Amino acid sequence: MSEKSKKNVCKRCGRKQGLVRKYRIYLCRQCFREIAKDMGFEKYS
Ligand SMILES: [Zn+2]
Repeated sequence: MSEKSKKNVCKRCGRKQGLVRKYRIYLCRQCFREIAKDMGFEKYS
């Protein structure tokens, strides 16, 4: 894997599907949902 492709995958699980880049966090929706709870982003789910 090149470093370029790594930027387009989830930091947490390495998944490409449903990647969320809105907040430059580079997480898939699944991981985003999980951390969103801790970060207080529940509104956006
Ligand atoms: Zn993930």
